Amino acid sequence: MAKVRVELEKERAAEANKQIRNVATANRNEIPKLLIREGLITEDQLRYAQRVHAKLTSHRTLLSILEELHYVTKDQVQEALRSSPVSIPLGSLLVELGYINEADLSMVLDNQREHPDAKFGQLIVDINLIDENDLLRVLSYQLGFPYIDPAIAEVDPKVFERGKIENYIENKFLPLHYQKDGILVAFADPLNNEQVNAAKKIFGSSIIIGIAKERAILEALNRYETKGLVADKGAKRLDSNDNAVVAAVNSILQEAHKQNASDIHVEPLRDKLQIRFRKDGVLVPYKEFPLDMAPGISSRIKILAGADIAERRRHQDGRIYFEEFDVQIDLRVSIYVTIHGENIVLRLLGRQGELRRIDELQFAPRIMQRFEEEALDAPSGVVIITGPTGSGKTSTLYSAINHLNNPNCSIITAEDPVEFVLDGIAQCSINPKINVTFEETLKHIVRQDPDIIVIGEIRDRFSAEMAIEAALTGHKVLTTFHTEDSTGALLRLLDMQIEAFLIASTIAGILAQRLVRRVCPDCVEDHPLTPDELRRLGYTSKEGSGLVFKRGRGCSKCRYTGYKGRLAVHELLIPGEMVKDAVIARKTSHEIKRISSQTTGLVTLLEDGICKASQGMTTFNEVIRQLPRLDRPRPLAEIKRLLGVH
Ligand SMILES: [Zn+2]
Repeated sequence: MAKVRVELEKERAAEANKQIRNVATANRNEIPKLLIREGLITEDQLRYAQRVHAKLTSHRTLLSILEELHYVTKDQVQEALRSSPVSIPLGSLLVELGYINEADLSMVLDNQREHPDAKFGQLIVDINLIDENDLLRVLSYQLGFPYIDPAIAEVDPKVFERGKIENYIENKFLPLHYQKDGILVAFADPLNNEQVNAAKKIFGSSIIIGIAKERAILEALNRYETKGLVADKGAKRLDSNDNAVVAAVNSILQEAHKQNASDIHVEPLRDKLQIRFRKDGVLVPYKEFPLDMAPGISSRIKILAGADIAERRRHQDGRIYFEEFDVQIDLRVSIYVTIHGENIVLRLLGRQGELRRIDELQFAPRIMQRFEEEALDAPSGVVIITGPTGSGKTSTLYSAINHLNNPNCSIITAEDPVEFVLDGIAQCSINPKINVTFEETLKHIVRQDPDIIVIGEIRDRFSAEMAIEAALTGHKVLTTFHTEDSTGALLRLLDMQIEAFLIASTIAGILAQRLVRRVCPDCVEDHPLTPDELRRLGYTSKEGSGLVFKRGRGCSKCRYTGYKGRLAVHELLIPGEMVKDAVIARKTSHEIKRISSQTTGLVTLLEDGICKASQGMTTFNEVIRQLPRLDRPRPLAEIKRLLGVH
């Protein structure tokens, strides 16, 4: 019986791998092949990049590696794609360009199989996997039409006035200006012959077809219809001291804080200043200001950030501590010069009041208890919080520091940069510009006689060695890492040539984490899983019979996404003797994972996700999209027992 099961598992794993490989390789090298054809890279360079790619454990695109090796620039890639459109399916192109990962792709393809009428592009935008603008950009690569943003594109009045605006609106196109071979016209659907012919009737058969968002085309046309083409030249420019400007900036900062945004984007466009907030990872439009307020608003932000107000041609950064009434906000500011002016992004940093207590991080009860008792409260050793970018590991790290912070112990940090400011802790921001490097800082930290050392991130062999050495001399070390799961962190350390024996004797605990979206409480409904959905989770129909998750129907409160807020999913590995032996014996990742599951009470990310979905906190789609599905999950009752969930 057991043997049959093992065979089945093997078969499953092989099948899953094959599928991933198929999706991944069938079309993956189309862009690099194109780059070779265009003479931008050589075969040798591609082979080298492929070798690097194969060695990396994290999800990186081959293209990003080619860029990092300086074989080719982003601009060259875009130019090549534009000049000779490639014929790969949109989904694969999105993967190759790094907009989505393979798990996302297979989820959407599955979804499309269930709804054969749905367009791939629409589906992928609807489930928030990609911004509509980015999708259009990729479509333009695929179809070979230039991508146009009507809000900033140049419209030549002489061209525009050749036709009637009603005609433009009816056929959803926007004429722009002369280019060397004809007149550039932006279409919402460049494949619609009727609309393209309508434009050709007015502008001649040699028009250059561009692609733009339908809404943006119509917005631009409506604006020209009401205001005319020429902007009001007489409007006065407001400066940074103007009351309207000060009030506008204050209200943007306060509103972002109130709405719990993580970033504020201040974006000058051709005819307006656009403010957007990033909430739960998604950029949402907040407000638009007339263009004459733009210089004042950007100067005001620069003054607050301590940046050079006279400098308008170079990128700058700064920091704002904003305080008004009972609102205090700490922001990191990045000013980036674009062709339309200064693009400003403000990241709202957490403050102590907002720092979440460790028991508010949605840990399952048993995991919470073990993380505190066996990892954080252990007298010494390295505690690693691991996950990809955007997995919320920094917030968890800070909550852990806060948990350990008391007057009797000395905590010192080396971070790049400091993101939360904590009372009573010596925090140091790495700043290579003034020669405060990671190496220098870590050397000095140990001499400060701390009890607890926080290393922002293990990024190379040097920082890994420092962490281990500090633990060996009786310190407790907290740090983050960039790996897929908990056992992956052990293997990465081995890959960094850290002695297996040292890893086994110093790692106190590894917490892997992911963020998933939370079901909107206002439109929640039952979601009984179909046999096919159970299969995708790794359950047989029998094992999962009667399993009911929740999902959001979509309502005005959640902007029809069905989601509101996010929560963390965890996987905690407390290495026991058997795991330590396996590391020293340099067993494979699969073996180490199996031993961890069987001997340490490890519950995988997938299993914790399934449990949280069964409690109605997140959805089937989020579990499938965000969590690695390497092993079959155990039955729900077993998972709940291990997690201490009743
Ligand atoms: Zn809702």
